[in-house]
Amino acid sequence: MGSRKDKLSPLRQRSLEILARLKRLYPDATCSLNYSTPVQLLVATILSAQCTDERVNKVTPALFSQFPDAASLAIADLVELENLVRSTGFYRNKAKNIQAACRMIVTEFDSVVPNQMEQLLKLPGVARKTANVVLAHAYGINAGVTVDTHVKRLSQRLGLTEAKEPVRIEQDLMGLLPQPDWENWSIRLIYHGRAICKARSPACVACELADLCPAANKPVVVG
Ligand code: SF4
Repeated sequence: MGSRKDKLSPLRQRSLEILARLKRLYPDATCSLNYSTPVQLLVATILSAQCTDERVNKVTPALFSQFPDAASLAIADLVELENLVRSTGFYRNKAKNIQAACRMIVTEFDSVVPNQMEQLLKLPGVARKTANVVLAHAYGINAGVTVDTHVKRLSQRLGLTEAKEPVRIEQDLMGLLPQPDWENWSIRLIYHGRAICKARSPACVACELADLCPAANKPVVVG
């Protein structure tokens, strides 16, 4: 009698092998944003849009020492908030969304970041990517697959999706990967994207996924 793995589609088998290798390659991979509470994780994740986690981690110590929780962020002076997050880019929009999200958390969710996708998506500035990060790392809930620029690029190169929209890519990945691994997949793929499979210069010769990757050693497509 064949094993369960034998009955899986070749694409699913390849996905699981990639997942297993990523776990071996990056055993201690974890969210690289610094935070102490779910609100701080939410704020750091909003700030990480179009910005590196490293840059966000430089900004948040001063931000959180002045405004540590939803209540203080909800009534912060907006210009002061903007100045504190300025170096993360798009700072006016980010400051406005952080304040509006914190106001809603205070008024509608009893000052607690909600732990349900539907409620999180009501918060200003929060789309599925941010909601998935918060649910996974603040509450241990795998509600979806976080699709950032690295996850998008690598999942496409690895031939696990042909979709271009993050929401469609997420659906494809959710269909291929076991739910308990949804978030750790993203974290590890981000590590691999930063270390090996860079946007313009993937190091295929050094890549331990090369034998599983249809894009290995092919001309780079940056999209
Ligand atoms: S083989 Fe090349 S394109 Fe494929 S994942 Fe590795 S570095 Fe990226």
